[in-house]
Amino acid sequence: TKPRRTREFQTEIKQLLDIVINSLYTEREIFLRELISNAADALEKFRYHNLTGEGSSAEELPLEISIELDDKEHTLTITDTGIGMTEEEVIENIGTIAHSGSKNFIQQLAASDSKDLNLIGQFGVGFYAAFMVAKRVRLQTRSYLPGAAGCEWVSEGAGSYDLGPSEGLSRGTRIILELKDDTHEFSRAEVIKRIIRQYSSFVPFPIKVNGEQVNTVQAIWTRNKNEVTEEEYNDFYKFVANAFDEPFYRLHFTADAPLAINALLFVPKQNMERFGFGRLEPGVNIYSRKILIQQHAEDILPQWLRFVKGVVDSEDLPLNISRETTQDRALMTKLRRVITGRFLKFLQEQSQKEPDKYLEFWKTFGVFLKEGAATDFSHRDDVAKLLRFESSKSEPGKMVSLPDYIDRMKEGQEEIYFINGPTRASIEAGPYLEAFRAADLEVLYTNEPVDDFALSNLAEFEGKRMVSADTAELNIPAPPPQEGVESLDYDQIQDLTAWFKEVLGARVSEVRESTRLVESPAIILDLDGMMTGSMQRFMQALN
Ligand code: ADP
Ligand code: MG
Repeated sequence: TKPRRTREFQTEIKQLLDIVINSLYTEREIFLRELISNAADALEKFRYHNLTGEGSSAEELPLEISIELDDKEHTLTITDTGIGMTEEEVIENIGTIAHSGSKNFIQQLAASDSKDLNLIGQFGVGFYAAFMVAKRVRLQTRSYLPGAAGCEWVSEGAGSYDLGPSEGLSRGTRIILELKDDTHEFSRAEVIKRIIRQYSSFVPFPIKVNGEQVNTVQAIWTRNKNEVTEEEYNDFYKFVANAFDEPFYRLHFTADAPLAINALLFVPKQNMERFGFGRLEPGVNIYSRKILIQQHAEDILPQWLRFVKGVVDSEDLPLNISRETTQDRALMTKLRRVITGRFLKFLQEQSQKEPDKYLEFWKTFGVFLKEGAATDFSHRDDVAKLLRFESSKSEPGKMVSLPDYIDRMKEGQEEIYFINGPTRASIEAGPYLEAFRAADLEVLYTNEPVDDFALSNLAEFEGKRMVSADTAELNIPAPPPQEGVESLDYDQIQDLTAWFKEVLGARVSEVRESTRLVESPAIILDLDGMMTGSMQRFMQALN
């Protein structure tokens, strides 16, 4: 066996521990949720490996989490019979952070005045929450791999940790918390039981406190909708999404054909990518007959729906599903098509049932749907229906959909018009709308380059082409000549445009007489209609 030795934490972990140890929190109890969630993950992994026959542990141990409390010594010990860790894995998983998003989170946390540690679990550093309540943490673990040696990790959270051999366990992980003077309450059974009921009632393994089981293990997604209470749904959401608040939307559905599916999907209240976390991991886990086969599954929904959380259970999936076999890939594609279609239909229903609530959703997650409209050909029409924009015919602050636009189209109108500008006011003060106003044609207002990418890539909706109002060649009627305004003659126009061209030089490719203006003297247009002005500015900024 290796001798005991001391190692330094990675810089970001030192920073994080410094915050965890030295700030005051009202919600310290979340440490337990984090430790239980790690134990549950370790058990899921063990169950999976055991069932698929990869690796094996001779030991027949019940798959469970047990918590022992010592109210005299003020310790809390949490033990799981999960997958455990080898010493190398301990060094890699506890003491190091690989994810750049987590590093960003820690840096932001260090810089901000309010230290909101509720989010700790979502940033892949939940384990360190133990130091909110413990002055010393001991972790003993033994990997499920045959012949693995046990090891112990000990730290007071101040810069370093000790590693050494440990014999106690035959498989799994035990974490012993020596509680701080002001956290002795967490060695009391009634306190711990309350916290488990609050945060961890959906952990799919028995949780025992001093030998007594506290949770009822159930896979609520397989239950009938009318038998699940609002509270159970919300608690389950907190469990799968590692969240502390309630979901914004919920979709629970069952299908028998073309695949047997039980799914429970949630939309969170917040867009975590806006918190500077970088790109979200996919949030849906795949089960087969209540057994977790893939956490954060990549293929169950398209990438642009990565903000959706929840579970999909299909008994048609094999436990050892693999991207390598054609058959499994085909199965996943089929499953993804069904789930995505159902989810988009759900959003469509919500947008009609509760339009105001949907607009709130749109403000938070619209950016993902625009990504879908721009990149996902297979669900183009369904996504297009979900887009929302302000328009020249909407009241300020209200939004319209493409189907609304189509319904209001003028007789003979063949195109859908949009124009980009930073705000409604700036668009309406500019020259682009003049001809459209004169012809009473509706124009959608887009505010960000991504909007123009989405609409341009959509290219058309219900057979009507998307056209940016700054395109040079428009098929719209010219405004009628204004009374009392005299036109220039042919030669004067030639002289004037030539003069403009000479002054502007290479900044413009052509200067022409325009028939589309009413109030403004001149307008800048996009000659080839390939990229709107906002897209060009965006691309230039990228280079
Ligand atoms: P996350 O759970 O989001 O990965 P944590 O900080 O909670 O982040 O845990 C870090 C890692 O440490 C886990 O991913 C896992 O590999 C390992 N780990 C933590 N607790 C356990 C446990 N009880 N059994 C096995 N591995 C664990
Ligand atoms: Mg965790």
